[in-house]
Amino acid sequence: MIGKEQKIRISEIFGPTIQGEGPLMGLPTVFVRTGGCDYRCKWCDTLHAVDSAFRDEWTPMSVDEVWSNVELLSQGCPLMVSLSGGNPAIQPFAPLIARGKHDGYQFALETQGSIAQDWFAELDHLILSPKPPSSGMEFKPGELTNCITAARNGPRIAMKIVIFNEDDYAFARSVARDFKELPIFLQPGNHTPPTEEEALIDLEGILNRMRWLVDRVTSDRWFDARVLPQLHVLLWGNMRGV
Ligand code: SF4
Repeated sequence: MIGKEQKIRISEIFGPTIQGEGPLMGLPTVFVRTGGCDYRCKWCDTLHAVDSAFRDEWTPMSVDEVWSNVELLSQGCPLMVSLSGGNPAIQPFAPLIARGKHDGYQFALETQGSIAQDWFAELDHLILSPKPPSSGMEFKPGELTNCITAARNGPRIAMKIVIFNEDDYAFARSVARDFKELPIFLQPGNHTPPTEEEALIDLEGILNRMRWLVDRVTSDRWFDARVLPQLHVLLWGNMRGV
């Protein structure tokens, strides 16, 4: 008997645009954003893919449906597909990744690292983004280790941590010490929720945090950390779908 296909809960599929943050910053990509998250960070900037109030906007899609959207957007030209959310790690992505890789596409996943999946090993890039104290969430290092173990030697793995304040910075230093084999990217926090058409952001706040973070990292001689802003936020504010 053939099993029933598990659908992927999609919040939005858009692009091509550039990846705006982390190790793939600047790379053209199509985003596949899933709906639903096991976390509820205080400053989440993708609430439309987290809060159940937006559930009506989430569509369960088959692999064929998701893939035809990606092919249409990329015009059949292979590129990096960014799996984002919400927490995309709670979705059944293995068949989609197999389908895309067969056609020459690459896949990057960004997740907070709370849930590990066997299909992490099939990714090209795994970006783990453990949440710092300002998120209000509890960090469990064992869960992050499980994600790294699940990835085996498949994808390149990087760590990306959002920083709002000193406590977050201390958290990032501690995580970097515990997972010193992983490249680490620090990103000044941005807590303005996204909107459909407004580009409102606290630009001065973001730039101040960025400058403070650069000072902090250089004065601590933390020379293997990379400090990057969210490029898409600087270019387009918090608009959705760019
Ligand atoms: Fe939002 Fe990410 Fe936190 Fe989920 S883990 S609530 S998507 S910031």
